[in-house]
Amino acid sequence: MHEECGVFAVAGHPDAAYLTYVGLLALQHRGQEAAGMVTFREPDVFTCHKDLGLVVDVFSKGAVADLSGKYALGHVRYSTKGYNTRENAQPHKAGHLWVASNGDVVNYTSQRIFLEQNDITFLSTNDGELLAKSILFNSQRKGGLVPGILQLMNHVHGTYSAGLLTSNKIMAFRDPAGIRPLVLGQKDGCGVLSSETCALDAIGAKYIREVAPGEIVDLETLATLGTSKNAMNPGRICIFEYIYFARPDSRIRNNLLWQARYEMGRQLAIEDPEKNSDIVMPVPETGNPCAAGFAAQSGLPLIPAIVKNHYVGRTFIKPEQSQRMEAVRIKLNVMRDLVQGKNVMVMEDSIVRGTTTKILVQKLKDAGAKRVSLAISSPPIKFPCFYGIDTGVRKDLIAADLTVDQVREYIGADQLYYLSLPGLLKACKGELSQFCTACLNGDYPIPVNEDGSLPGKAEWENGRQGV
Ligand code: SF4
Repeated sequence: MHEECGVFAVAGHPDAAYLTYVGLLALQHRGQEAAGMVTFREPDVFTCHKDLGLVVDVFSKGAVADLSGKYALGHVRYSTKGYNTRENAQPHKAGHLWVASNGDVVNYTSQRIFLEQNDITFLSTNDGELLAKSILFNSQRKGGLVPGILQLMNHVHGTYSAGLLTSNKIMAFRDPAGIRPLVLGQKDGCGVLSSETCALDAIGAKYIREVAPGEIVDLETLATLGTSKNAMNPGRICIFEYIYFARPDSRIRNNLLWQARYEMGRQLAIEDPEKNSDIVMPVPETGNPCAAGFAAQSGLPLIPAIVKNHYVGRTFIKPEQSQRMEAVRIKLNVMRDLVQGKNVMVMEDSIVRGTTTKILVQKLKDAGAKRVSLAISSPPIKFPCFYGIDTGVRKDLIAADLTVDQVREYIGADQLYYLSLPGLLKACKGELSQFCTACLNGDYPIPVNEDGSLPGKAEWENGRQGV
């Protein structure tokens, strides 16, 4: 499963571009395909730099120095639906405003057709551009940016946790369901916007609060400028931000995610149906806090017997099984001496297609493990995500049609069990109605068609090939 995007912005600070660069570095885990930043210096003078690649590759020292001005808006991107092209890199421009967003617009096709029928042209197939052009279109008719964004929230459905830069102003806004995180902070008295709190820590900013679902905020004063009439309270934050996506040192709804994942591990130990393992180990690194919680609750020794090579990029993800085997061998190494003859309990955050997990189980057995059990810190993923996460389509999801025992058989484990939904909610300290859990139970907070389909950008792009 891959992450989606990250947004960061600073308003009114003399080092806005450098601080945004550091913020984007801290959000790199949310998207590694493209990065970009736009700054405002004086009326009509905006400077934008964006390209494909990691933040360190896109922004050389000189590139950051060229981005002068006290207002900066940046973005890191992973393409969940749109193509990975330079044109799709964010932020996007419409007139004198720029938008950077995290999420997926689910009625992209109908909204784009509507705007094109009104003589608006597009340079990309990215949501950020659609949001920017919708806001400009609405603002011109509704008499200002705030009514323009509120109108957007009435008609553009899906997820968008976004920043908007215009002359002397940055605004933050979040879709009415609030599925993707977005937080506000302050650095030297200046407003900061970030997808996650870990990036506030990276620049030494103070955490202030989350942007509420459907809220529009002035980043300079941190004052609410408007709220959508459709806003859900407290919103339906994606539960996978807790399980896996967001960094463990980030906080959501005032919960440290490391702690939430530790609690998931404790719950898994309570729910373990067999309780006959000798050691517990994480799949590095997302499984680390979870394994610590499991070990604390069960009393088993925590042995991190799998070492990850951090310098292997996604270029090693290959289509053939034999190539994937090789990629996992390069990426994850099992320390034979630590697992030989042992009943091992492995902690993993999720199983999507099951191919990597199958290879890992085989590696542990090849290393001499007597028995391999897998505990997964989420319930089975049975439905696709339409809100900005690349889970693939339903037929790719191994748990969509197979029973837990059939999945166990496929991956070759001796025991497989998933954290229950009540156990997960307990660890996340919330009620079911406060989260998006659609990929687990099919309860989509933003409605989808009866067959679970939505008109998405993939269809749009495929239909536009060669146009
Ligand atoms: S469908 Fe799943 S991954 Fe997508 S937003 Fe909802 S909980 Fe998160």
